Amino acid sequence: MTDELLARLRRFNKDYFPQYEARFRDLVEQGQHPSTLFIGCSDSRIVPYMLTGAGPGELFLVRNVAAFVPPYDGTLEDRGCDAEDHRGCQHLEAGGGDRQWVGHHGTAAAIEYAVLALEVKHIIVCGHSHCGGIRALYGDVPAEARNLKAWLDMGREAALPVQPTPEALRRTEERSVVLQLERLMDYPMVRSRVEQGKLSLHGWHYVIEDGEVHVFDVQQGRFVPASTAEHSGTGPYRDLRDAERDTGALFNEIDDAWAPPR
Ligand SMILES: [Zn+2]
Repeated sequence: MTDELLARLRRFNKDYFPQYEARFRDLVEQGQHPSTLFIGCSDSRIVPYMLTGAGPGELFLVRNVAAFVPPYDGTLEDRGCDAEDHRGCQHLEAGGGDRQWVGHHGTAAAIEYAVLALEVKHIIVCGHSHCGGIRALYGDVPAEARNLKAWLDMGREAALPVQPTPEALRRTEERSVVLQLERLMDYPMVRSRVEQGKLSLHGWHYVIEDGEVHVFDVQQGRFVPASTAEHSGTGPYRDLRDAERDTGALFNEIDDAWAPPR
């Protein structure tokens, strides 16, 4: 019986790795310094390295169903602590007041790590056409998939009160990207760096069948094909490869017309 995966592992080691050995060794010795956090849908048709032309060490990747960003404080719940004085209470030390941290949001942890430790200059949120996660917002999820059901709640604000026509799905996919950008701005370490011009946000919708990313332009209030877009960023864009050079620019808030209904 052929073990296809094992064959591929051997091929990587024998054929591919030698071409990049020096690069990988450098990345081990110097550590990783990726400039970009890429938050993308898990869909197998999105290949971030192909899309961006990136190589080893350049993208810090987070992928999940539908490329959602969990709310920054979404893991705080009422603790119901009955201590008269809260001296020494862990929930207060964790900054949660009378609430405590619950849950394990890998995506939220990755955002914090990428911004605080890796000091990325760009965060991309990449949705795409024909997204099964977005389509699932309009249908039923099997009861057994309770984690998936809870996860999809993070996209419900983007859904429209209409039948899921191709146009409605496309619009929902785009609205979801905008929603996730708004959630990103609720992360204090993201907001402060964006406002200081040290970090830029990029809302992308990848149209698989066209092989083209459409970039959300907050000033135009729409997604613009990369072939005609002025830049790859969502707000006023500067090349942040040398962020220390200038700290004047501000990120524009997402236009109300594009904000999902509350
Ligand atoms: Zn998807």
